[in-house]
Amino acid sequence: MKTIQNYINGSYHNPLNDDWLDNYCPADGTIYGKLPNSSAEDVENAYIAAKSAFPSWSQTPLEERSHILIKISELLEANLQRLAEAESMDNGKPIGLAKTVDIPRAASNFRFFGNAITQFASESHESVGMDAINYTLRQPIGVVGCISPWNLPLYLFTWKIAPAIAAGNCVVAKPSEVTPMTAYLLGDICAEAGLPRGVLNIVHGLGTTTGQAIVEHPDIMAISFTGGTKTGAQIAKIAAPMFKKLSLELGGKNPNMIFADCDYRNMLETTIRSSFANQGQICLCGSRIFVEAPIYKKFKTDFIAKVEALKIGDPSNKDTDIGALVSKEHMEKVMAYIKIAKEEGHTVLCGGNRVNIKGLEKGCYLEPTVIEVESDACRVNQEEIFGPVVTLMPFNREEEALQMANSVKYGLSATVWTSNLSRAMRLSNQLQTGIVWVNTWMLRDLRTPFGGIKASGVGREGGFEALRFFTEPKNVCIKY
Ligand code: NAD
Repeated sequence: MKTIQNYINGSYHNPLNDDWLDNYCPADGTIYGKLPNSSAEDVENAYIAAKSAFPSWSQTPLEERSHILIKISELLEANLQRLAEAESMDNGKPIGLAKTVDIPRAASNFRFFGNAITQFASESHESVGMDAINYTLRQPIGVVGCISPWNLPLYLFTWKIAPAIAAGNCVVAKPSEVTPMTAYLLGDICAEAGLPRGVLNIVHGLGTTTGQAIVEHPDIMAISFTGGTKTGAQIAKIAAPMFKKLSLELGGKNPNMIFADCDYRNMLETTIRSSFANQGQICLCGSRIFVEAPIYKKFKTDFIAKVEALKIGDPSNKDTDIGALVSKEHMEKVMAYIKIAKEEGHTVLCGGNRVNIKGLEKGCYLEPTVIEVESDACRVNQEEIFGPVVTLMPFNREEEALQMANSVKYGLSATVWTSNLSRAMRLSNQLQTGIVWVNTWMLRDLRTPFGGIKASGVGREGGFEALRFFTEPKNVCIKY
């Protein structure tokens, strides 16, 4: 049994009320450890540690902060294998993915913000004719809260923590209770890198206990949250009347628009990834595939052949393409949508069933599933499934595809496959999403603004946007 503890003020602690949760391994369905279900008192202790670290950390020279963040990044890289194994075991994702995407990206997050903070500057405005100069101070907020989901555990956890501490804040952070392991391991790595105690505090537990205690804390004045839209609304309801700064990265139902004039081979390869990477549990996955009528039949045949060739199996096997879904509850939710699709009269073109892996019979394995729908206005096309399920539908005209792409409550990302530059630019202008990928998917430049519109969230992460979020601008006006 592996026991996870809270990381507060630079050392590990049991929860004060001795309340524990089981930690499941979705690959084999066993309980392999336990984690704290921290109370408001644990959160208060984390807050006190963060508050006492703040005066010194916020005055630490940028170069010194930068040096520590880069050291954390190097240590994450040095521990790549161990962290990838932990992530794969906790989440069910293929070890190959954890090794090439999750952990390297967590390291990049620290390196990127370690460098970015040395380039972050504020503005000054000469007030011509008024004998005055205005300059803007960008001051850290103080103690901030970071709450992250289970799908890309260390990747998304560090995507918040790195800019928060780079900007001089101290942090109370909570990873998902479903995948707490790599966040737990991060504590030691930060200590080894020389991060002063109290700058980062990691508390574990359920959203409704630990998470809510962070959001309700009267002196944690900013919340950076990634997770479901419903949870985002609940957090906003509590935080808004307390006038907290909020960054909400929420759900998606992203369109993948494929035109007949695209680079077909590249599109097909990428569409397999954008549909099923991480078992389709990435907020950016293109779960609604719209294909221009002239290539619809060909695409359907080729796509299904490739989907059926994907290897489903033990996440710790390096040849596995599709690992386990994150939990039994989540797998059941995804399967319920496959049932809804059938009840709505759609055609399951491939997949749709649970998979029994020899020796891992209790694991959460589901076939990658492709559903052909008649109309976009159905539940499987309107609601976020967040699993290895995509829908297919043909379209005839660009306007029709655009109209369907925008006809959801979400607005996170969209993908457009075309070699027509005018069309690419026209659609990019009109798509109601925070991110548009043209002839690619999930190509990430960490300087770019990242986030969604509509029910996909409020605010942007990434680059200087994140450093702006984690600082308060103060204008100083001097008359001479
Ligand atoms: P979730 O909303 O259930 O949980 C996310 C985090 O919030 C967890 O740490 C959870 O414990 C905590 N939480 C839950 N209730 C809370 C409350 N009342 N107060 C405070 N914290 C609370 O989401 P999930 O199931 O972990 O993740 C899947 C969702 O995340 C999907 O909807 C997916 O689209 C979304 N997501 C979005 C992005 C993005 O960048 N937009 C990225 C990844 C995942």
